[in-house]
Amino acid sequence: MAEDREVDLLIAGAGPAGMAAALVAALEGLNVLLCEKSGQVGGTGSTSAGTLWIPGNRQSRAAGFDDSAADADRYLDALIGRDTNRALRDAYLTTGPDAIDYFSSRTELKFLPCGPHPDYRSNMPGAAFAGRAIVPQPFDGRLLGDAFARVRPPIPEFMVLGGMMVGKADIPPLLNRYRSLSDFSYAAKLFIRYLTDRLRYRRGTRLMMGNALVGRLFYSLRQRDVPILFDARLAGLTGDRNGISGARISVGGREITVRARKGVVLATGGYGRNKRWRNAFMPQPVPVHSMSHAGNTGDGLTLGESLGAAVAPEHCTSGLWTPVSVTRRSDGSEGLFPHLAMDRAKPGLIAVNAAGRRFVNEACSYHDFVLAMFESHKTEPAIPAFLICDAPFLRRYGLGAVYPGHRNIASFKRSGYLTSAATLDDLAAKLCIDADGLRATVKRHNGFAITGIDTDFGKGETDLNRFNGDAACKPNPCIGTLAAPPFYAVTVWPADIAVSSGLATDADARVLAGDGRPIPGLYACGNDMASVMGGSYPGPGTTLGPALVFAYRAAMHARDAA
Ligand SMILES: Cc1cc2nc3c(=O)[nH]c(=O)nc-3n(C[C@H](O)[C@H](O)[C@H](O)COP(=O)(O)OP(=O)(O)OC[C@H]3O[C@@H](n4cnc5c(N)ncnc54)[C@H](O)[C@@H]3O)c2cc1C
Repeated sequence: MAEDREVDLLIAGAGPAGMAAALVAALEGLNVLLCEKSGQVGGTGSTSAGTLWIPGNRQSRAAGFDDSAADADRYLDALIGRDTNRALRDAYLTTGPDAIDYFSSRTELKFLPCGPHPDYRSNMPGAAFAGRAIVPQPFDGRLLGDAFARVRPPIPEFMVLGGMMVGKADIPPLLNRYRSLSDFSYAAKLFIRYLTDRLRYRRGTRLMMGNALVGRLFYSLRQRDVPILFDARLAGLTGDRNGISGARISVGGREITVRARKGVVLATGGYGRNKRWRNAFMPQPVPVHSMSHAGNTGDGLTLGESLGAAVAPEHCTSGLWTPVSVTRRSDGSEGLFPHLAMDRAKPGLIAVNAAGRRFVNEACSYHDFVLAMFESHKTEPAIPAFLICDAPFLRRYGLGAVYPGHRNIASFKRSGYLTSAATLDDLAAKLCIDADGLRATVKRHNGFAITGIDTDFGKGETDLNRFNGDAACKPNPCIGTLAAPPFYAVTVWPADIAVSSGLATDADARVLAGDGRPIPGLYACGNDMASVMGGSYPGPGTTLGPALVFAYRAAMHARDAA
């Protein structure tokens, strides 16, 4: 490798944002170099659900789910205010569908409409029930051959049999495989494919969700011979606030200098693993858990700031949050299970704080759930909080990492993941929470199960609540009794799945200096860029949607730059 290189565009970080920027730039004829700090592509994106929030996308419209950018704009007005990030928001809403069509028609990055997938504040004006969320088509990792090992795997908690990915549509046939011939044959095909995969690969090659997204981006980059330097950390930028001309990259203990004629794109995934930025931006007590990729140490933000770039920290809690429970993996290490959508909204679960009191509509979005933890914690400790259910609930719906119908809950009890007790009083004692409070809360909530009305938090009243509930449960799909012992609890903590504070940019993802002027030749996208959503979480795909759209805009701008 030569010590010095010259390219048109240098991109740092091979997560979804960086790979998308590199791909568009290469397709537009630029000479591109992508450097990635770790030995694999994908970053946090590889462990994500892979959903993109793209109002007015044509894939949904073609499937009969109509939506308009104007409605989404009204929704964002209600959520974050008319003037917040106006220029960026306009750019996002107008470019979103075009960017997705560009990827779909010119690369292997193809998408499917999710159909119904409600916005997270589905009771607000302009919110959509269907039509905004899209996901990448599943991807066959075998197409990558040996390079498949370069795709970062999902978290173990999201795989079965030690390496098989399971999508939402796979769950019912897998659970019912002994109940019908068609489900049995569906499940058998999945298992056979997986077993065959394992003869050659370290995990299953049927990639879904975020793994399909990064697999498809990586495959597309390889098809165009876009060079990726692995184990290559962006270590410094050359230039100053008047213009960036390149960067220094640390590879294998050496530093190489790259001159970048059109500029440098920062896509290093934000500061989720940087203590200094966490302490500066996040609420107290600063959450100890993060689902961000371990390499996301805020390098882009730190380098940008050192040049006088503006950092936009004003977003309300500076993170996009989920409650997580702490798992014990088979190798003894700790993992995090994100309680996104499978358990909290189901009938017969409550979330309580240390006073044994509910503090939230359990069926709200994962982001809003954690905001309520922070809020409750100001007066009654809710960090951690506790998800509580009874025995029939656990069997039917599962709880966190304990999947529905799980046959070996003893191991979860032994590891301390699951707490169980024959009475609510004993459960409260084991969790060290107020027993009188818990008893009173369960009694009151059981009353709501009969009326179907949660007079405390309105659970079951929004489209989002009901979508994740159980339609078979009447009168309210999200409210059931907790009555049949043993009772179970899982402890949950706040964790960021993404960060919303980052480098301030203009609508072309150009990083802005403190005086509001763009720094020529410096771009930021993905979590390195301050979120266009102003710290709010409007719907499924709030970070990956903007990550791809602003990566596209950055690359197009760089193409046209002098
Ligand atoms: C469980 C889970 C589910 C999620 N589901 C969704 C979802 O469905 N929809 C959605 O919108 N969002 C989702 N997210 C969030 C989403 O994954 C992230 O917001 C997204 O991956 C951010 O993309 P990125 O490219 O900015 O960063 P990343 O994907 O984290 O990639 C950053 C890359 O930069 C590299 N890097 C870091 N520093 C350097 C350096 N100095 N030099 C070179 N490389 C560097 C890292 O190694 C990493 O590979 C989810 C997250 C989690 C944890």
